[in-house]
Amino acid sequence: MVDSSARSKFIEDELRQVKTKVSTLQDAELVSCVPQQVRIDVQRTKSKRMSICMQFPSEYPDQLIIVELKSRTLPQRFLDATLKAVDANKEQFLRARQQAVAVARFICEYLDSNPLCVCAEEISDLRKEANVDADKGEFLKIKQKQSLVHLRAQEGAYFVEAKMTMDAQYPETYASTSVETNMPAVFQRFLTAQAKEVARRCVQPPLLRRKKGEKPVPVANFEPRPSLLPVGKFILQTARRYPTELCAICRVVCFPPDPSALTEDMEGDDFVERVYCGHIFHHRCIDKYMKTPPFKGGKKCPQCADIIFHDKWRASDQIREERWAHEQAKQRELDEVEDFLS
Ligand SMILES: [Zn+2]
Ligand SMILES: [Zn+2]
Repeated sequence: MVDSSARSKFIEDELRQVKTKVSTLQDAELVSCVPQQVRIDVQRTKSKRMSICMQFPSEYPDQLIIVELKSRTLPQRFLDATLKAVDANKEQFLRARQQAVAVARFICEYLDSNPLCVCAEEISDLRKEANVDADKGEFLKIKQKQSLVHLRAQEGAYFVEAKMTMDAQYPETYASTSVETNMPAVFQRFLTAQAKEVARRCVQPPLLRRKKGEKPVPVANFEPRPSLLPVGKFILQTARRYPTELCAICRVVCFPPDPSALTEDMEGDDFVERVYCGHIFHHRCIDKYMKTPPFKGGKKCPQCADIIFHDKWRASDQIREERWAHEQAKQRELDEVEDFLS
């Protein structure tokens, strides 16, 4: 079709077809429909928005329609990938002759079949951050259909696997994470709870109390942030940190090299205790430390000097002093008995 008047007539026909058929595209709005440009805006969710701008080339319809994608919310790398996919399927559009609606429909379907498109940058950053070592059994898998990112980190004989799922409203909603690990159960619980907390903080404003006694209110001007990368980083750091970390008191690695040697007995000598600051201890080491003076001002972590908070050792300074005095008195009595007998 080299004849320019035939081209113009073809385009006029197609523009009429675009006006009637655009309503068959979900969440799409026809913004302009003139021979110079067809523009269709698509808004699936708050974060999945784009403008599809199309222009008819000089040899249209024997040439592929010229497409440009604009979006303030979707990553450029996803827009580039979409255009590549359009180009890869160009035969199908050339056969269709009237290409505008066919191309727009293809782009909408591509958007829907790639729910993780909103995380493209985050996934790329997480890949760099993770720098997975496949020889150790580590991986970072992307499952578009399930909108899932599956991460496995390994340190020595210990692994942590996290499945992070993003729903349709992501990043306004947070990544929900399930964790599997062969670390002790308390670490599994910590990883699960803290992954949720890290994610929640990305989307929910912190509360602020202006005056004492007043009800706390959410801080103003809070913008939700994507949570996949922060959660992924947290999982990686934790998975790689603890298996080699030393007891904050005796400076011996807490995790046995063989996970089958781990004890789940909460009062067992080798049970691994993790305190609020994040440092870890053998149960026997911290138990002795918490029951030994000085108590004034609270017992501090020998590693970072933060006060140690732990459910197992909740006694106040005064109670600790009294217990200590009592233990000492008992010991003196025993010593005296021994002296007397010897
Ligand atoms: Zn120790
Ligand atoms: Zn500490």
